Amino acid sequence: MENSYKMRVMAVTIGTLAALSIFITVRYRRRRRSQKCPSNSCYLQGDHCQNQKKPQHAFKRVLADNSYSPFKHLKKLHDSPNENDLNSHPYEAEVTALLDNPGLEFSFINEYTDLKMSETYTWVETETQLKELVDVLSKERVFSVDTEQHSLRSFLGFTALIQISTQKEDYLVDTIALHDAMSIIRPVFADPSICKVFHGSDNDILWLQRDFHIYVVNLFDTAKACELLSKPQKSLAYLLETYCGVTTNKLLQREDWRQRPLLNEMVQYARIDAHYLLYIANCLIAELKQQENEISCPDDKFHFVLEASRRSNMTCLQLYTKDVEGFPGESAASSLSSRHLNGQGGVSSNFEAKFPDLVRRLCAWRDLMARLHDESLRYVLSDQAIVALADRAPMTTTEVCNTINQADLNVDLSFHSFLPSPSPVVCSHLDDVCSLLQDKIGNLNDIFPMIIQKCLGPSGSCPISIYNYALLINCNLKLEFVSKQNGVKSSKQVAKKASRDLFVQKFSCKSPVYHNCRIYANDGRLLCYCDQRKLEWYLRRDLAKIVDDNPPAIMLLFEPKGRPEDEDNDFYIQSKKNICVGCGEGSHYLRYRIIPSCYRMHFPEHMKSHRSHDIVLVCVDCHEVAHASAEKYKKQIAAEFGIPLFVRKVVDLKQVQVMSGSSESETNLEEGGVSPLQLRTAAMALLRHGPRMPSKRRDELTQIVMSYYGGREISEVDLEKALLVGMSPHERRRLEKKKGLSFKPSAVSILPNVEQENNNGSAETSGIVETSEVSTLDDSQSTKAEARSRKEDRETGADVGDSSVCADSGIKEEVSSTFKENVKPDKNGVSDINGVLLINSNDDCESRSPSNRIVDLYHTEYDGTAQPKHHPKLSLLGHGPHGKQVVDHLLKEYGEDGIRQFSQRWRQVFVEAVHPRFLPAGWDVMHSGRRDFGEYSVYNPAKKTSAPVQS
Ligand code: AMP
Ligand code: ZN
Ligand code: MN
Repeated sequence: MENSYKMRVMAVTIGTLAALSIFITVRYRRRRRSQKCPSNSCYLQGDHCQNQKKPQHAFKRVLADNSYSPFKHLKKLHDSPNENDLNSHPYEAEVTALLDNPGLEFSFINEYTDLKMSETYTWVETETQLKELVDVLSKERVFSVDTEQHSLRSFLGFTALIQISTQKEDYLVDTIALHDAMSIIRPVFADPSICKVFHGSDNDILWLQRDFHIYVVNLFDTAKACELLSKPQKSLAYLLETYCGVTTNKLLQREDWRQRPLLNEMVQYARIDAHYLLYIANCLIAELKQQENEISCPDDKFHFVLEASRRSNMTCLQLYTKDVEGFPGESAASSLSSRHLNGQGGVSSNFEAKFPDLVRRLCAWRDLMARLHDESLRYVLSDQAIVALADRAPMTTTEVCNTINQADLNVDLSFHSFLPSPSPVVCSHLDDVCSLLQDKIGNLNDIFPMIIQKCLGPSGSCPISIYNYALLINCNLKLEFVSKQNGVKSSKQVAKKASRDLFVQKFSCKSPVYHNCRIYANDGRLLCYCDQRKLEWYLRRDLAKIVDDNPPAIMLLFEPKGRPEDEDNDFYIQSKKNICVGCGEGSHYLRYRIIPSCYRMHFPEHMKSHRSHDIVLVCVDCHEVAHASAEKYKKQIAAEFGIPLFVRKVVDLKQVQVMSGSSESETNLEEGGVSPLQLRTAAMALLRHGPRMPSKRRDELTQIVMSYYGGREISEVDLEKALLVGMSPHERRRLEKKKGLSFKPSAVSILPNVEQENNNGSAETSGIVETSEVSTLDDSQSTKAEARSRKEDRETGADVGDSSVCADSGIKEEVSSTFKENVKPDKNGVSDINGVLLINSNDDCESRSPSNRIVDLYHTEYDGTAQPKHHPKLSLLGHGPHGKQVVDHLLKEYGEDGIRQFSQRWRQVFVEAVHPRFLPAGWDVMHSGRRDFGEYSVYNPAKKTSAPVQS
């Protein structure tokens, strides 16, 4: 849409006349602001801003937010993902089909009669009215369209009004009130059998995509027709005057189209822009047809109408994209720099060398601030102010303000100069501007995540909105990444304190644990359980509304970035005020499983659901105490039940068959076996130090490994195989990764000294693998043990107590599904796992029942070809086999009551060890363990497959 020269002259005149009053207004506003807005408090926050709330804050669905992430176009329901990636036009096929054959004679406007604009029009502001409009439009063969935008107080701009005219009626659609309902009107715009007439549609096409995913199919653009007809002008104003004798005041296009009610003249202006388009299109089509007949030679006809339609529909194939820059504000910076330096003949002030850098900083800051506050760049800081600041580099906040104000006053006052100068954004974030100018900050890349955190973080100064939310989320991820890298690097050299901190950072909970509150998405889907604080966090920021109060539930007013179905999306803001149930420590906390995972993982599915009861929060110190006492008590259980903590002997099955045929006795097997720990220790030592160790020691170790292989000679391959005996596939993979390093005799070993661990009597065989993972952290045994137990919990699949578990996130109790009661020990009480015999022959523990002598862990379906199936995470090296036997025993002897009593014993152990003073109300050692599943609980078997629906 071009402005005629005439209009521009008028604008300048009006602007000049208004200069004085604007100047006064600006001054007045600024003064008032500095009184009411204390610095460092964002102008968007606080009471005085409530009455000038931005209308876009009421939008619940925003397709184009202010983050740097690319715009996502509409995906049609039946498109496969390959056909229709983010960058393809959902109606490409439909539009392309029209390029060659519009299938229309454009005779539809012929019956057009009444040129005059009537007194009445229809204001559309409710969903019902919008539906009625869609009904009307779907029966039309053609309608005309125009849109009005607001772009000053918004980063990307938004559609404030859509004007639609049929031959009978003008409709003004309030797209602010109906922002979230506009999808209703999509189909008529995409309907190829209905022609849409626009004038100069390029921007409108993109704006409709940006705000509503409205895609225009079958367009007739009167500006394209003008082009073909070589009209002296192709502005709408010109066409209106020429064809309709109507003058329009194009100045009104820059009015604030957010205001309601619209001023009368604005309504008139808006109607005119669409109303006459049908008539004008009709005239132009007639002219095109005439040209067709007059100009083209009869043999080789040039189809003017078709070409106008084709050019119009080419416009429809455009796709809205957010501007992409290598660095925020980069393009503005380079154009400002070059413009300024050229203008001054390359001679600038003292700061010449610094000038481009300062411009770059200011442009980047402006870009970020505009996104954060959802304002246009020009509202935040004008180009001329940036140049002035970079040129003068003022030092104090007062100087900064004056520089900006002067720069803005010196420019010719056009329509835009109603803006306050400096802008409220600058005023409430003056410190940032000063730091930027004073070069206090080094790398710009580093400072921006910091600014985002400062503004939007948990105690941020500025309101979070649906527009800037994604900025925060992306920034969080980046920050986390940075701190992780630094953490690992430095911890290599530091001692206990730092290592403990790192441990806390690594293993402490990343999300709150108590989950009586619910969060629903704006379509009513349950997203997660959370604590009260999180609810309040959203409510305070107007990001959610309450939908239930006992227990409380909120519904998010925006489309969350991280749906349960999206993986790895750190959507949830962490709640920080959970405390250790032991000592009340609040700075960090870990989940602690009161009932050790090795038992709990074998509980019947429905008895594992006591997440809030038997998984409590403790600090690192209380965790250590609790863990130590639990390990001690495990030994007591082992003795009491006669079920040793570890698998005692393993025998290579192939060797047994080779040596003894099928008549082997239990005694023979036991004699042929060796403890998995001994076996692995010996094999490891031989591989690593074999050639250099005294021959006596070497022989001893060789004997141990040989006894596993039934006494035959062993090779290096046998030694390597022996290392993997009893490991879960997961452990094997990890070990294999490290093989190259650790098995070379002279290489510095990552693995701890296994022999030593064996000698000092540590029962924690899993440490062979586990310690390797945390050995970069610290040398302290306690920390290792902590890490080990945490790791063990996670590996055994017991880490399911996460209260922020999302309804469909796939976090499931998967433990016993592949691992049921279908164990088939042979008549000798021995099972076959991966060709290994396990013999549980603990001499320390008195056997109480025959079954105790069997390690009946695995479901064996070994058909000779397929790998035997077993629980993928279970290792023979941990306490898993012990736990399985204990739980099986309890269930068999006492049923579920046995499990309940067993759980109570563990609660007692915890209480006696930690003396917890901050247990949640209602926590009880005698807790029955009976618990109904909440209607929305992910553990509710009935709800497992279907998504919960809000009541
Ligand atoms: P129009 O259809 O000509 O009324 O323009 C549609 C929208 O484009 C207006 O609501 C303005 O937001 C925007 N617009 C068009 N031209 C200008 C301009 N020269 N300056 C500012 N905004 C404009
Ligand atoms: Zn702010
Ligand atoms: Mn318009």
